[in-house]
Amino acid sequence: MSERITGHTELIGLMAYPIRHSSSPAMQNEAFAALGIDYAYLAFEIDENEIEDAVKAIRTLKMRGSNVSMPNKTLVGKYLDELSPASKLTGSVNTIVNDNGHLTGYVTDGIGFMSALKDNNIDPIGKKMTIVGAGGAATAVEIQAALDGVAEMSIFNIRDKFFPNGEETARKINEQTNCKATFYDLADTKKLKEEMDSSYIFVNGTGAGMKPLEDVSVVPDKSYFRPELIVVDVPYSPLCTKMRKMAKEVGCKTMNGLGMMLFQGSAAFELWTGKPMPIEHMKKVLNINYDD
Ligand code: NAD
Repeated sequence: MSERITGHTELIGLMAYPIRHSSSPAMQNEAFAALGIDYAYLAFEIDENEIEDAVKAIRTLKMRGSNVSMPNKTLVGKYLDELSPASKLTGSVNTIVNDNGHLTGYVTDGIGFMSALKDNNIDPIGKKMTIVGAGGAATAVEIQAALDGVAEMSIFNIRDKFFPNGEETARKINEQTNCKATFYDLADTKKLKEEMDSSYIFVNGTGAGMKPLEDVSVVPDKSYFRPELIVVDVPYSPLCTKMRKMAKEVGCKTMNGLGMMLFQGSAAFELWTGKPMPIEHMKKVLNINYDD
C-alpha cells in the first residue's frame, strides 16, 4: 500500500485560472518527495470571483499555504492578515503561508529572478539594468532588483493598460530604494538603443516571445545587442524567444525564464517547509539549462 499520502499529509494549493498547464505541481511534489517532507501540492482552478472563498478554504481546511497566479496575484492581498515588504511594494502576492490561521502573503518572483542570476554567475548589483515590462512579473523583478542594489534602471513598456503601472513602479523605486529608475515608452527605439548600450544587463519581462506572442520581440533587430550585454528572458514557453535568438547570434550570454521559475518555487518551498529546495537535484530532474 502506498504511504506517500497519509492522514498527516499537509496540503499546499496553487490557485489560478487557467492553471492545468503549470509545471509547479510536478516541481514542488518532486522536491517534497526528495526531502521526505509529508506535504502534497495540488492545482485548483480558481478565478477572480472565487479567490475570496478559496482563501477562506485555506483557513477552514488548515492548509499549510498556497501559490497564487493570474488573475489572483493582485486581488488576494486584501483577504490576508499580513503582507511582506516586497508584496506591499509590488501590490502582488504569489505565495501564502498559513501559520495557525494567520495568513501572510509574499511575492517570490523577484527573489526567484535575482537568485537565478546569482546561480548563473550574473551579478547586476551596483550596475545598470534595462528592462521591458510593467505587468506582474516585471514589476516584481524591478522592485526586487532595486531593493537588492541594482544602481540604475531604465524601464520600458508599450502604451497599453500596463503603461501607468510602469510609471508608478519607477516612482516607487526612486522614493523607496537607492536605485535611480526612469520610465520610457518602448516606441522610443532610439532611447531603447541608448539605454541598452549603457547597460550591463537587458531583461524582457513581458509576455512577448511566449505563446500566443511567439513572433513578437521587444527589441526590433539584432543591431540593438552587443556581445558584452547579458540578455535575460522572463518567459519560458517556448524556451527560446525570438529576442533571445537574436542576442545569441550576436554572441551575448543569455538566460531563459526557467531559472526564475525554479527559484521562485524554491523560495516558496522554503517559506512553507523551513528547508531549502534541493536545487541541483531539481535542475537535473527538470532538465534546466539556462541558455536553451
Ligand atoms: P502581465 O499580463 O501582468 O503583463 C504582461 C506584460 O507584457 C505587460 O508589460 C504588457 O505591456 C506586455 N505586453 C503584452 N503584449 C505585448 C506586446 N505585443 N509587445 C510588448 N509587450 C507586451 O503578465 P505577467 O504575469 O507579468 O507575465 C509576463 C510573462 O512572464 C509571461 O510570459 C509569463 O508566463 C512570464 N512569467 C514567468 C515567470 C517565471 O518564473 N519565469 C513568472 C511569472 C511570469
